[in-house]
Amino acid sequence: MPTPETVADVIVIGAGLSGLETALTLEENGLKVTVLEGRHRVGGRLYSLFDLPGQPEVGGNIVSRSFGRVIAASARYGVELVNVAPRYARFPDRQELFIGGEHIPAARWPDHPRNPFRSADKKLLPMEWGRAMLRRHRPFNDLENWHDAAHAKFDVPVHDFLRSKGATDGEIALGYETNMSYGTESAHDVSMLQLAFVDYWQSINREGSGPRFTGVFRGGNQTLPIAMAKRLRGDLLEDRRVTAIELVDDGVTVHAVDGSRHRARAVVCSVPFPVLRHVRIDPLPPAAQQRAILTLGAKPITQFHLIPKRPFWEADGLSPAFWSDGPSGSVLANRDGPEGGPVTTLTVWCSALNARFLDRFGRDEAARIVIADIERLRPAARGALELAAWHSWERDPYAGGTWAIFGPGQVELARPLAAPHGRLFFCGEHTAISARGMEAAFESAERVSLEVLDALSTKMR
Ligand SMILES: Cc1cc2nc3c(=O)[nH]c(=O)nc-3n(C[C@H](O)[C@H](O)[C@H](O)COP(=O)(O)OP(=O)(O)OC[C@H]3O[C@@H](n4cnc5c(N)ncnc54)[C@H](O)[C@@H]3O)c2cc1C
Repeated sequence: MPTPETVADVIVIGAGLSGLETALTLEENGLKVTVLEGRHRVGGRLYSLFDLPGQPEVGGNIVSRSFGRVIAASARYGVELVNVAPRYARFPDRQELFIGGEHIPAARWPDHPRNPFRSADKKLLPMEWGRAMLRRHRPFNDLENWHDAAHAKFDVPVHDFLRSKGATDGEIALGYETNMSYGTESAHDVSMLQLAFVDYWQSINREGSGPRFTGVFRGGNQTLPIAMAKRLRGDLLEDRRVTAIELVDDGVTVHAVDGSRHRARAVVCSVPFPVLRHVRIDPLPPAAQQRAILTLGAKPITQFHLIPKRPFWEADGLSPAFWSDGPSGSVLANRDGPEGGPVTTLTVWCSALNARFLDRFGRDEAARIVIADIERLRPAARGALELAAWHSWERDPYAGGTWAIFGPGQVELARPLAAPHGRLFFCGEHTAISARGMEAAFESAERVSLEVLDALSTKMR
């Protein structure tokens, strides 16, 4: 056997927030750690476009008020967290509504023939309807035990749950499935159990007491993982896509695509499951964990970052931001600085089925479709938009999607999916229990670090 390239106490696979935080915690506790990262950069799903004005985010955007671990990490690693809530207060950039190719002013929406909502809900905009339904009918408020058997009856499609509360297919199609946040293609493929938990978590962040807090890291959110990576004492090897993890009685061997081998007493894997499916694990994990690795969903989002060559919104008198049921999905305007300067870029968020449709075309053709759609909706934008960046999170070979989606019947996998498998341990957003997003990555790092420290000081000494 060739000599391994690195030998350590622990190998951490992935240099996103969860992998880096785990590696730093284990180092603080005296262990020698090697981090193997597939990409040529650190940060994973935190990815800032440093070369574009305003450093728009391709990945994680906002730190909310109850992200205690993320807020503590910003202080620990010396990366300033800036509250940009004043920017939103000053420039609400309310999203204009375009349905069926038609601009519908908010005041006309309640009586508009395209409005599928009924009675008092007619006044809700499509992007408000899903949240209003959840606020009204959320079956439980539980962050810690949402996957427990007591709630199992809600492990059904969101579609069925909403129908049971009287919603029509037309309401669900426009109010939930269009530019959907949770689901891969439709309200049929996401569990109500996960949505109830996420909605409760988000409502605490959105509606908690105290002044509004919308945090971003100064200079771009990716500056946090970059600062964390600089603190590592052991090896951080980029361009090492892991292809196989071999577990034996006295240690692990991890193989990377460049042919290198790495040895340690234990390995922590932060790789999202749509990607982990392509990594050989020998011996295979137990059946439930294997089922989770093979089937856990992830939300597709494809983004287009556009530079406006002129402020076309001044010509048509509308907000630069808009929400549509067409290919251009949901368009947000980015304004520079905490106080909100002029619009620097527009981010087009294409979700779920729309993202999958656009992903069938290459970058340039997909961008042409999206820009043509914007120009059709808003003729003042003709010739005013230039593509600066594109990213398909589902096609991203190191992510396979934006965040984990538990399908109906899958929530029972939430616990077994994160359980240690011999010397193989799991972290990452998808393995967290009571948080989501960046905070979930830190929560999972906290748990897995304790698991590894315990195992290495006792049974795997
Ligand atoms: C578009 C978008 C918007 C978001 N918005 C928000 C938000 O507003 N607020 C919020 O809190 N969160 C948000 N999130 C979620 C947040 O970014 C993630 O939850 C968090 O960054 C995940 O961290 P992680 O360490 O679990 O995973 P990752 O960051 O994905 O880290 C996994 C690492 O493993 C590496 N890797 C993968 N495969 C291999 C392999 N085979 N070998 C070696 N390395 C490999 C990857 O390159 C990556 O670096 C958003 C995410 C996206 C994509």
